Amino acid sequence: AKDNGRNSYEFYSQLLSDKANKEEQLKLSLESAIENNDFCVVYQPIVSLKDKSVTKFEVLIRWNKNGSWVSPADFIPTAEKFGLISKIGDLVLNLACIELCNLNNKGFTNIVFNVNRSIYEFSSGVNDASWLDTIKKYDLSPESICFELTESVLAPENDRCITLLNKLQNAGCTIALDDFGTGYSSLNYLRRFPIDTLKIDRGFISEMTKVEGDAVLVSAIISMAKALGITVVAEGVELKQEVDMLVSLGCDYIQGYYFSKPLLPELLPQYLIDFKYD
Ligand code: C2E
Ligand code: CA
Ligand code: CA
Ligand code: CA
Repeated sequence: AKDNGRNSYEFYSQLLSDKANKEEQLKLSLESAIENNDFCVVYQPIVSLKDKSVTKFEVLIRWNKNGSWVSPADFIPTAEKFGLISKIGDLVLNLACIELCNLNNKGFTNIVFNVNRSIYEFSSGVNDASWLDTIKKYDLSPESICFELTESVLAPENDRCITLLNKLQNAGCTIALDDFGTGYSSLNYLRRFPIDTLKIDRGFISEMTKVEGDAVLVSAIISMAKALGITVVAEGVELKQEVDMLVSLGCDYIQGYYFSKPLLPELLPQYLIDFKYD
């Protein structure tokens, strides 16, 4: 019994150190990826159900690691943990601004890009006005950027976060709460933060037409948002039945493979020209 105890302890600590090593490796390759600019972004349309049109896109990061693509889900948490997330966030914001200028120059005005920013970045206070400076540097109006608050590891709560959010909102940017209803994205954030838009997580949407309880929750979230004067985006919509149900529940916007996968920037102008709701 004694031996077993020691073996399983050794086994467990081996597992832990393997995990730590892997993470350390990932951190190092992330650092060099930031140095070398090995990132690009893709854009997923967000469809307005009211106007039956597209004017918004979510900006999603892609990492080309030695020729293969790494999912942000596999590196964002590590970037958050090791303080690399603001560099990545700045990189994404710059790419988004450049593309927005491109579209404006081609005559596509009134486009809004949703940029993901980790709640972590809001609490650290390092960014204070730099995001607005970036937007102004490109001569863009703050109204054309929505910041999506995301969180994959629990961030320390503090007043800096609220101050920065207010500053961005007062300047004209909009604020969306990502993945609402999952993990740490909760009612408490809705209570404390100035939120314009709430994004219902794909987890609720994907079973909504099969599981009655999920439909009830989605319906309740939409009603709550309406009562609070907040707009709602349903994420991860893949099926016509889901679109129909969301329309009948009064959802404002839809994002998901049903309308489009994330697109390379060079495809955006033609997408905007060709888009038809029906
Ligand atoms: P998210 O912000 O919830 O983004 C939506 C994710 O769902 C994206 O995955 C998108 O490609 C995927 N998706 C969209 N529609 C559908 C659908 O109909 N079905 C399914 N199955 N999936 C759909 P992606 O691009 O792999 O991003 C994963 C997560 O990584 C994002 O989730 C976000 O939390 C994070 N992320 C991505 N880019 C950034 C970034 O620039 N900064 C930060 N901080 N996080 C980012
Ligand atoms: Ca998001
Ligand atoms: Ca989301
Ligand atoms: Ca997510």
